[in-house]
Amino acid sequence: MNLAVLLDQSATRHAGLPAVCLGADTLWTFAQLRTRAAAIAAALRARHVPGARIALVSENRPEFVELLFGIWAAGLVAVPVNYKLHAREVAQIVEDAQVALLFASPELAPALQGLPCQCIALDSPAYGALLAPAALQIAPVAADTLAWLFYTSGTTGRSKGAMLTHGNLVAMAVAHLADIEPELGPQCSQLHGAPMSHGSGLYLLPSLARGARQVVPASHGFEPAEFLALCDAHPGCGAFLAPTMVQRLREALAARGGQRPQHLRCIVYGGGPMYLEELRRAMDAFGPVFAQIYGQGETPMTITGLTRAEHSSAPAHQLASVGWARSGTEVAVLDAQGQPLPPGEPGEIAVRGATVMAGYWRNAEASAQALRGGWLWTGDIGVQGENGCLTLRDRSKDVVISGGSNIYPREVEEVLLTHPGVAEACVVGAPDAEWGEVVVAHVVAAPGAVVDAAALDAHCLAQIARFKRPKRYVFVDALPKNSYGKVLKRALRETA
Ligand code: ATP
Repeated sequence: MNLAVLLDQSATRHAGLPAVCLGADTLWTFAQLRTRAAAIAAALRARHVPGARIALVSENRPEFVELLFGIWAAGLVAVPVNYKLHAREVAQIVEDAQVALLFASPELAPALQGLPCQCIALDSPAYGALLAPAALQIAPVAADTLAWLFYTSGTTGRSKGAMLTHGNLVAMAVAHLADIEPELGPQCSQLHGAPMSHGSGLYLLPSLARGARQVVPASHGFEPAEFLALCDAHPGCGAFLAPTMVQRLREALAARGGQRPQHLRCIVYGGGPMYLEELRRAMDAFGPVFAQIYGQGETPMTITGLTRAEHSSAPAHQLASVGWARSGTEVAVLDAQGQPLPPGEPGEIAVRGATVMAGYWRNAEASAQALRGGWLWTGDIGVQGENGCLTLRDRSKDVVISGGSNIYPREVEEVLLTHPGVAEACVVGAPDAEWGEVVVAHVVAAPGAVVDAAALDAHCLAQIARFKRPKRYVFVDALPKNSYGKVLKRALRETA
Protein backbone atom coordinates (compact mmCIF):
# COMPACT_ATOMS: atom_id res chain seq x y z
CA MET A 1 0.00 0.00 0.00
CA ASN A 2 1.31 3.43 -0.97
CA LEU A 3 1.48 5.76 2.04
CA ALA A 4 -0.39 8.37 0.01
CA VAL A 5 -3.49 6.19 0.40
CA LEU A 6 -3.58 7.28 4.06
CA LEU A 7 -4.18 10.86 2.96
CA ASP A 8 -6.68 9.83 0.30
CA GLN A 9 -8.72 7.83 2.81
CA SER A 10 -8.74 10.62 5.39
CA ALA A 11 -9.66 13.20 2.78
CA THR A 12 -12.59 11.05 1.65
CA ARG A 13 -13.81 10.60 5.19
CA HIS A 14 -12.98 13.97 6.79
CA ALA A 15 -12.96 16.27 3.72
CA GLY A 16 -13.99 19.50 5.46
CA LEU A 17 -12.04 19.06 8.70
CA PRO A 18 -8.77 20.86 9.42
CA ALA A 19 -5.79 18.86 8.20
CA VAL A 20 -2.91 21.32 8.51
CA CYS A 21 -2.70 24.33 10.80
CA LEU A 22 -0.05 26.99 11.15
CA GLY A 23 -0.02 28.27 14.70
CA ALA A 24 -3.61 28.67 15.85
CA ASP A 25 -5.01 28.97 12.30
CA THR A 26 -6.27 26.30 9.94
CA LEU A 27 -4.40 26.42 6.66
CA TRP A 28 -5.86 23.51 4.70
CA THR A 29 -8.71 21.09 5.17
CA PHE A 30 -8.20 17.43 4.31
CA ALA A 31 -9.79 17.99 0.89
CA GLN A 32 -7.48 20.94 0.21
CA LEU A 33 -4.43 19.01 1.35
CA ARG A 34 -5.32 16.16 -0.99
CA THR A 35 -5.77 18.61 -3.89
CA ARG A 36 -2.38 20.19 -3.24
CA ALA A 37 -0.60 16.84 -2.83
CA ALA A 38 -2.26 15.57 -6.05
CA ALA A 39 -0.95 18.61 -7.95
CA ILE A 40 2.57 18.17 -6.59
CA ALA A 41 2.50 14.47 -7.43
CA ALA A 42 1.47 15.19 -11.03
CA ALA A 43 4.19 17.81 -11.45
CA LEU A 44 6.88 15.57 -9.98
CA ARG A 45 5.77 12.53 -11.96
CA ALA A 46 6.11 14.51 -15.17
CA ARG A 47 9.74 15.36 -14.39
CA HIS A 48 11.19 12.40 -12.48
CA VAL A 49 11.47 8.66 -12.93
CA PRO A 50 9.94 6.40 -10.23
CA GLY A 51 12.30 6.01 -7.27
CA ALA A 52 14.02 9.39 -7.78
CA ARG A 53 15.16 10.99 -4.53
CA ILE A 54 13.62 14.31 -3.54
CA ALA A 55 15.25 16.09 -0.61
CA LEU A 56 13.46 18.34 1.89
CA VAL A 57 15.60 20.86 3.78
CA SER A 58 13.37 23.01 5.88
CA GLU A 59 12.42 23.98 9.39
CA ASN A 60 8.96 22.69 10.32
CA ARG A 61 6.61 24.03 7.68
CA PRO A 62 3.15 23.05 6.40
CA GLU A 63 4.62 22.38 2.97
CA PHE A 64 6.46 19.42 4.48
CA VAL A 65 3.13 17.58 4.76
CA GLU A 66 1.93 18.19 1.20
CA LEU A 67 5.35 17.48 -0.25
CA LEU A 68 5.67 14.13 1.49
CA PHE A 69 2.33 12.93 0.19
CA GLY A 70 3.01 14.37 -3.26
CA ILE A 71 6.37 12.60 -3.39
CA TRP A 72 4.89 9.29 -2.27
CA ALA A 73 1.87 9.47 -4.55
CA ALA A 74 4.28 9.95 -7.47
CA GLY A 75 6.27 6.86 -6.45
CA LEU A 76 9.33 8.93 -5.48
CA VAL A 77 11.52 8.83 -2.37
CA ALA A 78 11.62 11.54 0.30
CA VAL A 79 15.04 12.42 1.72
CA PRO A 80 14.44 14.51 4.85
CA VAL A 81 17.55 16.51 5.71
CA ASN A 82 18.30 18.09 9.05
CA TYR A 83 17.91 21.81 8.35
CA LYS A 84 20.66 22.71 10.81
CA LEU A 85 23.34 20.99 8.79
CA HIS A 86 26.01 23.07 7.13
CA ALA A 87 25.59 23.47 3.35
CA ARG A 88 28.68 21.28 2.94
CA GLU A 89 26.99 18.48 4.94
CA VAL A 90 23.80 18.85 2.93
CA ALA A 91 25.94 18.55 -0.18
CA GLN A 92 27.35 15.24 1.08
CA ILE A 93 23.83 13.84 1.49
CA VAL A 94 22.72 15.19 -1.90
CA GLU A 95 25.69 13.49 -3.48
CA ASP A 96 25.36 10.21 -1.57
CA ALA A 97 21.61 9.92 -2.22
CA GLN A 98 21.96 11.19 -5.81
CA VAL A 99 19.19 13.64 -5.12
CA ALA A 100 17.31 14.80 -8.21
CA LEU A 101 15.48 17.77 -6.70
CA LEU A 102 15.69 19.61 -3.42
CA PHE A 103 13.00 21.69 -1.73
CA ALA A 104 14.30 24.28 0.73
CA SER A 105 12.70 26.81 3.02
CA PRO A 106 13.10 30.46 1.98
CA GLU A 107 15.71 30.99 4.70
CA LEU A 108 17.89 28.06 3.66
CA ALA A 109 17.49 28.11 -0.13
CA PRO A 110 20.11 30.82 -0.92
CA ALA A 111 22.91 28.80 0.72
CA LEU A 112 21.93 25.66 -1.19
CA GLN A 113 21.82 27.03 -4.73
CA GLY A 114 25.25 25.68 -5.73
CA LEU A 115 24.35 22.02 -5.20
CA PRO A 116 24.40 19.56 -8.10
CA CYS A 117 20.60 19.28 -8.20
CA GLN A 118 17.71 21.63 -8.80
CA CYS A 119 16.73 23.58 -5.68
CA ILE A 120 13.21 25.00 -5.30
CA ALA A 121 12.49 27.46 -2.50
CA LEU A 122 9.11 26.96 -0.84
CA ASP A 123 8.16 30.62 -1.45
CA SER A 124 9.30 30.75 -5.08
CA PRO A 125 7.17 30.99 -8.26
CA ALA A 126 8.62 27.59 -9.21
CA TYR A 127 6.95 26.11 -6.16
CA GLY A 128 3.65 27.84 -6.95
CA ALA A 129 3.85 26.37 -10.47
CA LEU A 130 3.80 22.85 -9.01
CA LEU A 131 0.34 23.45 -7.63
CA ALA A 132 -1.55 23.46 -10.95
CA PRO A 133 -4.69 21.35 -10.35
CA ALA A 134 -4.49 17.66 -11.30
CA ALA A 135 -6.38 14.49 -10.42
CA LEU A 136 -4.86 12.40 -7.67
CA GLN A 137 -2.97 9.46 -9.09
CA ILE A 138 -1.29 7.17 -6.61
CA ALA A 139 1.56 5.08 -8.00
CA PRO A 140 1.28 1.38 -7.16
CA VAL A 141 4.17 0.32 -4.92
CA ALA A 142 5.33 -2.89 -3.27
CA ALA A 143 5.82 -3.17 0.47
CA ASP A 144 9.57 -2.98 -0.11
CA THR A 145 9.47 0.13 -2.29
CA LEU A 146 11.67 2.85 -0.81
CA ALA A 147 9.75 5.79 0.70
CA TRP A 148 11.97 7.60 3.23
CA LEU A 149 15.74 7.74 3.00
CA PHE A 150 16.75 8.90 6.45
CA TYR A 151 20.30 9.99 7.15
CA THR A 152 21.25 9.10 10.74
CA SER A 153 22.48 12.07 12.69
CA GLY A 154 25.96 10.66 12.96
CA THR A 155 26.34 11.07 16.72
CA THR A 156 28.43 7.88 16.69
CA GLY A 157 30.06 8.09 13.28
CA ARG A 158 29.52 9.05 9.66
CA SER A 159 25.95 9.69 8.64
CA LYS A 160 24.35 6.76 6.78
CA GLY A 161 21.13 6.62 4.75
CA ALA A 162 18.66 4.21 6.38
CA MET A 163 16.26 2.93 3.72
CA LEU A 164 12.67 2.83 4.98
CA THR A 165 10.01 1.40 2.73
CA HIS A 166 6.27 2.01 2.36
CA GLY A 167 5.77 -1.28 4.20
CA ASN A 168 8.05 -0.16 7.07
CA LEU A 169 6.20 3.10 7.59
CA VAL A 170 2.72 1.58 7.37
CA ALA A 171 3.82 -0.93 10.03
CA MET A 172 5.20 1.92 12.16
CA ALA A 173 1.93 3.84 11.93
CA VAL A 174 -0.14 0.76 12.77
CA ALA A 175 2.07 -0.09 15.78
CA HIS A 176 1.71 3.48 17.02
CA LEU A 177 -2.07 3.30 16.80
CA ALA A 178 -2.08 -0.08 18.51
CA ASP A 179 0.25 0.77 21.39
CA ILE A 180 0.73 4.45 22.06
CA GLU A 181 -2.21 6.60 20.93
CA PRO A 182 -5.18 4.33 20.14
CA GLU A 183 -7.52 7.25 20.85
CA LEU A 184 -6.31 9.30 17.85
CA GLY A 185 -9.19 10.72 15.85
CA PRO A 186 -10.55 13.94 14.33
CA GLN A 187 -10.85 15.40 17.83
CA CYS A 188 -7.03 15.28 18.13
CA SER A 189 -4.10 17.42 17.05
CA GLN A 190 -0.51 16.45 16.35
CA LEU A 191 1.90 19.24 17.27
CA HIS A 192 5.21 19.33 15.44
CA GLY A 193 7.68 20.81 17.88
CA ALA A 194 10.48 18.34 17.20
CA PRO A 195 12.07 18.57 13.73
CA MET A 196 9.75 17.04 11.13
CA SER A 197 12.82 15.92 9.21
CA HIS A 198 13.60 13.47 11.99
CA GLY A 199 11.75 10.19 12.61
CA SER A 200 9.40 12.12 14.88
CA GLY A 201 7.97 13.87 11.82
CA LEU A 202 6.59 10.48 10.81
CA TYR A 203 4.03 10.77 13.58
CA LEU A 204 2.04 12.67 11.03
CA LEU A 205 1.19 9.27 9.54
CA PRO A 206 -0.87 7.65 12.33
CA SER A 207 -2.47 10.95 13.32
CA LEU A 208 -3.35 12.02 9.78
CA ALA A 209 -4.64 8.53 9.01
CA ARG A 210 -7.14 8.94 11.84
CA GLY A 211 -8.28 12.42 10.81
CA ALA A 212 -6.28 14.41 13.36
CA ARG A 213 -4.88 17.80 12.36
CA GLN A 214 -1.18 18.54 11.95
CA VAL A 215 -0.19 21.70 13.81
CA VAL A 216 3.00 23.42 12.71
CA PRO A 217 4.15 26.11 15.15
CA ALA A 218 4.35 29.62 13.64
CA SER A 219 7.96 29.75 14.90
CA HIS A 220 8.62 26.68 12.71
CA GLY A 221 10.32 25.00 15.65
CA PHE A 222 10.12 24.38 19.35
CA GLU A 223 9.46 27.44 21.51
CA PRO A 224 8.17 26.07 24.82
CA ALA A 225 5.84 29.00 25.64
CA GLU A 226 4.35 28.89 22.12
CA PHE A 227 3.97 25.11 22.38
CA LEU A 228 1.96 25.50 25.60
CA ALA A 229 -0.21 28.17 23.99
CA LEU A 230 -0.91 25.82 21.05
CA CYS A 231 -2.06 23.20 23.56
CA ASP A 232 -4.57 25.78 24.78
CA ALA A 233 -5.72 26.58 21.24
CA HIS A 234 -6.13 23.15 19.58
CA PRO A 235 -8.15 20.13 20.77
CA GLY A 236 -6.60 16.90 22.08
CA CYS A 237 -2.96 17.81 21.63
CA GLY A 238 -0.27 15.18 21.28
CA ALA A 239 3.37 15.53 20.33
CA PHE A 240 6.69 13.81 20.21
CA LEU A 241 9.39 15.61 22.18
CA ALA A 242 13.02 14.72 22.81
CA PRO A 243 13.88 14.53 26.54
CA THR A 244 15.64 17.92 26.51
CA MET A 245 12.48 19.48 25.06
CA VAL A 246 10.39 17.97 27.87
CA GLN A 247 12.68 19.63 30.35
CA ARG A 248 12.38 23.01 28.62
CA LEU A 249 8.60 22.62 28.47
CA ARG A 250 8.48 21.96 32.20
CA GLU A 251 10.52 25.10 32.85
CA ALA A 252 8.15 27.11 30.65
CA LEU A 253 5.19 25.71 32.56
CA ALA A 254 6.77 26.80 35.84
CA ALA A 255 7.29 30.26 34.31
CA ARG A 256 3.53 30.52 33.71
CA GLY A 257 2.80 29.58 37.30
CA GLY A 258 2.41 25.85 36.70
CA GLN A 259 -0.91 26.32 34.90
CA ARG A 260 -1.37 23.19 32.77
CA PRO A 261 -2.43 23.71 29.15
CA GLN A 262 -6.11 23.02 28.55
CA HIS A 263 -5.85 20.35 25.88
CA LEU A 264 -2.60 18.48 26.42
CA ARG A 265 -3.41 14.82 25.85
CA CYS A 266 -0.12 12.99 25.24
CA ILE A 267 3.60 13.63 25.12
CA VAL A 268 5.62 10.84 23.59
CA TYR A 269 9.28 11.16 24.48
CA GLY A 270 12.31 9.18 23.33
CA GLY A 271 15.25 9.32 20.99
CA GLY A 272 17.66 9.67 23.91
CA PRO A 273 17.80 8.95 27.63
CA MET A 274 15.13 10.48 29.85
CA TYR A 275 16.59 10.56 33.34
CA LEU A 276 14.32 9.34 36.08
CA GLU A 277 14.59 12.54 38.12
CA GLU A 278 13.50 14.64 35.17
CA LEU A 279 10.67 12.26 34.27
CA ARG A 280 9.29 12.44 37.79
CA ARG A 281 9.41 16.24 37.74
CA ALA A 282 7.69 16.32 34.35
CA MET A 283 4.96 13.90 35.50
CA ASP A 284 4.35 16.07 38.57
CA ALA A 285 4.10 19.15 36.40
CA PHE A 286 1.95 17.83 33.54
CA GLY A 287 0.14 14.83 34.95
CA PRO A 288 -0.29 11.40 33.34
CA VAL A 289 0.35 12.44 29.73
CA PHE A 290 3.68 10.72 29.12
CA ALA A 291 4.44 7.72 26.92
CA GLN A 292 7.91 6.60 25.93
CA ILE A 293 9.26 5.08 22.78
CA TYR A 294 12.66 3.59 22.09
CA GLY A 295 13.60 3.45 18.46
CA GLN A 296 16.22 4.33 15.88
CA GLY A 297 16.29 5.90 12.47
CA GLU A 298 16.79 2.33 11.26
CA THR A 299 13.44 1.21 12.72
CA PRO A 300 11.68 4.49 13.28
CA MET A 301 10.25 4.99 16.74
CA THR A 302 9.48 1.31 17.04
CA ILE A 303 11.54 -1.03 19.20
CA THR A 304 9.97 -0.87 22.65
CA GLY A 305 7.70 1.50 24.52
CA LEU A 306 5.97 2.38 27.77
CA THR A 307 2.37 3.55 27.55
CA ARG A 308 0.73 6.32 29.58
CA ALA A 309 -1.02 3.71 31.72
CA GLU A 310 2.29 1.97 32.36
CA HIS A 311 3.81 5.28 33.45
CA SER A 312 1.10 5.80 36.03
CA SER A 313 1.37 2.35 37.52
CA ALA A 314 5.07 1.56 37.06
CA PRO A 315 7.46 1.02 39.94
CA ALA A 316 10.69 3.06 39.71
CA HIS A 317 12.76 0.41 37.93
CA GLN A 318 10.15 0.15 35.17
CA LEU A 319 9.90 3.90 34.83
CA ALA A 320 13.65 3.90 34.22
CA SER A 321 13.30 1.20 31.56
CA VAL A 322 12.30 1.50 27.91
CA GLY A 323 9.40 -0.92 28.38
CA TRP A 324 8.18 -3.78 26.22
CA ALA A 325 8.47 -4.78 22.56
CA ARG A 326 6.12 -2.82 20.35
CA SER A 327 3.32 -4.53 18.41
CA GLY A 328 4.67 -6.53 15.48
CA THR A 329 8.23 -6.24 16.77
CA GLU A 330 10.49 -8.86 18.31
CA VAL A 331 13.28 -7.76 20.62
CA ALA A 332 16.20 -9.84 21.93
CA VAL A 333 19.36 -9.28 23.90
CA LEU A 334 22.14 -11.17 22.11
CA ASP A 335 25.72 -12.15 22.82
CA ALA A 336 28.46 -11.51 20.25
CA GLN A 337 27.63 -14.81 18.49
CA GLY A 338 23.99 -13.87 18.10
CA GLN A 339 22.71 -16.19 20.84
CA PRO A 340 19.93 -14.86 23.09
CA LEU A 341 21.13 -14.09 26.61
CA PRO A 342 19.13 -15.06 29.69
CA PRO A 343 17.16 -12.39 31.61
CA GLY A 344 19.40 -10.10 33.65
CA GLU A 345 22.48 -10.46 31.42
CA PRO A 346 23.56 -7.41 29.42
CA GLY A 347 24.14 -7.75 25.69
CA GLU A 348 23.41 -6.01 22.41
CA ILE A 349 19.79 -5.23 21.70
CA ALA A 350 18.55 -6.68 18.42
CA VAL A 351 15.19 -6.23 16.76
CA ARG A 352 13.25 -7.75 13.89
CA GLY A 353 9.87 -7.08 12.41
CA ALA A 354 8.08 -5.14 9.70
CA THR A 355 9.45 -1.74 10.76
CA VAL A 356 13.13 -2.65 10.31
CA MET A 357 14.87 -0.84 7.44
CA ALA A 358 15.84 -2.57 4.22
CA GLY A 359 19.52 -1.56 4.72
CA TYR A 360 21.77 1.45 4.29
CA TRP A 361 21.73 3.24 0.98
CA ARG A 362 24.68 2.24 -1.21
CA ASN A 363 26.59 0.98 1.81
CA ALA A 364 26.73 -2.83 1.66
CA GLU A 365 29.38 -3.01 4.37
CA ALA A 366 27.41 -1.02 6.95
CA SER A 367 24.20 -2.90 5.97
CA ALA A 368 25.89 -6.28 6.50
CA GLN A 369 27.20 -5.08 9.85
CA ALA A 370 23.80 -3.83 11.07
CA LEU A 371 21.60 -6.59 9.59
CA ARG A 372 22.96 -9.99 10.64
CA GLY A 373 21.25 -13.33 11.18
CA GLY A 374 17.84 -11.82 10.50
CA TRP A 375 18.22 -9.14 13.18
CA LEU A 376 18.90 -5.42 13.20
CA TRP A 377 21.74 -4.97 15.68
CA THR A 378 21.06 -1.65 17.36
CA GLY A 379 24.48 -0.92 18.86
CA ASP A 380 22.71 -0.39 22.20
CA ILE A 381 23.45 -2.45 25.29
CA GLY A 382 20.47 -3.58 27.32
CA VAL A 383 19.10 -6.08 29.79
CA GLN A 384 15.75 -7.83 29.66
CA GLY A 385 13.83 -8.71 32.81
CA GLU A 386 12.00 -12.00 33.36
CA ASN A 387 8.84 -10.28 32.15
CA GLY A 388 10.47 -9.00 28.94
CA CYS A 389 10.83 -5.42 30.15
CA LEU A 390 13.93 -3.92 28.52
CA THR A 391 16.34 -1.58 30.27
CA LEU A 392 18.84 0.31 28.19
CA ARG A 393 22.32 0.48 29.64
CA ASP A 394 24.01 2.57 26.99
CA ARG A 395 25.20 2.62 23.43
CA SER A 396 27.96 0.08 23.00
CA LYS A 397 30.26 2.79 21.64
CA ASP A 398 29.75 4.87 24.78
CA VAL A 399 30.58 2.13 27.29
CA VAL A 400 33.75 3.01 29.23
CA ILE A 401 36.13 0.13 29.90
CA SER A 402 38.28 1.05 32.86
CA GLY A 403 40.68 -1.46 34.40
CA GLY A 404 38.80 -4.22 32.55
CA SER A 405 35.39 -3.29 34.03
CA ASN A 406 32.48 -2.06 31.93
CA ILE A 407 31.02 1.22 33.15
CA TYR A 408 27.78 2.47 31.66
CA PRO A 409 27.92 6.28 31.49
CA ARG A 410 24.16 6.52 31.75
CA GLU A 411 24.20 4.96 35.23
CA VAL A 412 26.76 7.51 36.42
CA GLU A 413 24.82 10.36 34.79
CA GLU A 414 21.63 9.27 36.58
CA VAL A 415 23.47 9.48 39.91
CA LEU A 416 25.01 12.89 39.19
CA LEU A 417 21.61 14.27 38.21
CA THR A 418 20.19 13.42 41.61
CA HIS A 419 22.57 16.05 43.10
CA PRO A 420 20.64 19.31 43.52
CA GLY A 421 23.57 21.34 42.18
CA VAL A 422 23.63 19.53 38.82
CA ALA A 423 21.47 20.64 35.90
CA GLU A 424 23.01 18.45 33.21
CA ALA A 425 25.69 15.79 33.16
CA CYS A 426 27.44 13.82 30.48
CA VAL A 427 29.94 11.06 31.19
CA VAL A 428 32.51 9.83 28.69
CA GLY A 429 35.68 7.74 28.72
CA ALA A 430 39.11 9.32 28.29
CA PRO A 431 42.25 7.37 27.41
CA ASP A 432 44.44 6.58 30.40
CA ALA A 433 47.83 4.87 30.50
CA GLU A 434 47.10 2.99 33.72
CA TRP A 435 43.41 2.06 33.41
CA GLY A 436 42.90 1.98 29.65
CA GLU A 437 40.11 4.51 30.08
CA VAL A 438 38.92 6.66 32.94
CA VAL A 439 35.50 8.16 33.58
CA VAL A 440 35.24 11.91 32.96
CA ALA A 441 32.09 13.84 33.85
CA HIS A 442 31.07 17.05 32.11
CA VAL A 443 28.73 18.95 34.38
CA VAL A 444 26.48 21.97 33.93
CA ALA A 445 25.67 23.43 37.35
CA ALA A 446 22.07 24.25 38.25
CA PRO A 447 21.30 27.99 38.08
CA GLY A 448 22.72 29.71 41.17
CA ALA A 449 24.29 26.51 42.51
CA VAL A 450 27.90 26.25 43.58
CA VAL A 451 29.11 22.73 43.12
CA ASP A 452 32.62 21.29 43.04
CA ALA A 453 34.35 18.02 42.27
CA ALA A 454 34.75 17.04 45.92
CA ALA A 455 31.02 17.39 46.61
CA LEU A 456 30.10 15.36 43.51
CA ASP A 457 32.67 12.71 44.34
CA ALA A 458 31.19 12.28 47.82
CA HIS A 459 27.71 12.13 46.26
CA CYS A 460 28.79 9.37 43.83
CA LEU A 461 30.65 7.41 46.51
CA ALA A 462 27.43 7.22 48.50
CA GLN A 463 25.53 5.67 45.59
CA ILE A 464 27.72 3.71 43.16
CA ALA A 465 30.76 1.44 43.19
CA ARG A 466 34.10 3.22 43.63
CA PHE A 467 35.39 2.16 40.22
CA LYS A 468 32.44 3.81 38.45
CA ARG A 469 33.07 7.27 39.97
CA PRO A 470 34.31 9.96 37.62
CA LYS A 471 38.04 10.48 38.06
CA ARG A 472 37.78 13.94 36.59
CA TYR A 473 35.12 16.66 36.44
CA VAL A 474 34.88 19.31 33.76
CA PHE A 475 32.48 22.15 34.57
CA VAL A 476 30.92 23.70 31.48
CA ASP A 477 28.23 26.30 30.73
CA ALA A 478 26.46 24.02 28.24
CA LEU A 479 26.85 20.59 26.67
CA PRO A 480 27.36 20.37 22.90
CA LYS A 481 24.15 19.03 21.31
CA ASN A 482 22.87 18.28 17.86
CA SER A 483 19.68 19.85 16.55
CA TYR A 484 17.60 17.04 18.05
CA GLY A 485 18.95 17.91 21.51
CA LYS A 486 21.27 14.89 21.71
CA VAL A 487 24.57 15.40 23.45
CA LEU A 488 27.46 15.00 21.06
CA LYS A 489 29.52 12.59 23.13
CA ARG A 490 32.02 12.30 20.32
CA ALA A 491 32.90 15.98 20.72
CA LEU A 492 33.25 15.61 24.48
CA ARG A 493 35.45 12.54 24.11
CA GLU A 494 37.79 14.51 21.88
CA THR A 495 38.31 17.14 24.60
CA ALA A 496 38.08 14.91 27.69
P1 ATP B 1 23.75 7.80 14.82
O1 ATP B 1 23.08 6.46 14.76
O2 ATP B 1 24.29 8.22 13.50
O3 ATP B 1 24.77 7.89 15.89
P2 ATP B 1 21.63 8.97 16.34
O4 ATP B 1 22.19 8.46 17.59
O5 ATP B 1 21.08 10.33 16.48
O6 ATP B 1 22.65 8.90 15.14
P3 ATP B 1 19.01 7.98 16.13
O7 ATP B 1 18.43 6.94 15.27
O8 ATP B 1 18.46 9.34 16.08
O9 ATP B 1 20.52 7.98 15.81
O10 ATP B 1 18.97 7.55 17.67
C1 ATP B 1 18.78 6.25 18.06
C2 ATP B 1 19.43 6.01 19.38
O11 ATP B 1 18.91 6.89 20.38
C3 ATP B 1 19.14 4.63 19.92
O12 ATP B 1 20.00 3.65 19.36
C4 ATP B 1 19.37 4.81 21.41
O13 ATP B 1 20.74 4.77 21.73
C5 ATP B 1 18.85 6.22 21.64
N1 ATP B 1 17.46 6.19 22.11
C6 ATP B 1 16.33 6.15 21.37
N2 ATP B 1 15.23 6.10 22.14
C7 ATP B 1 15.67 6.08 23.43
C8 ATP B 1 15.04 6.02 24.70
N3 ATP B 1 13.71 5.98 24.82
N4 ATP B 1 15.83 6.02 25.81
C9 ATP B 1 17.17 6.08 25.69
N5 ATP B 1 17.83 6.15 24.53
C10 ATP B 1 17.10 6.15 23.41
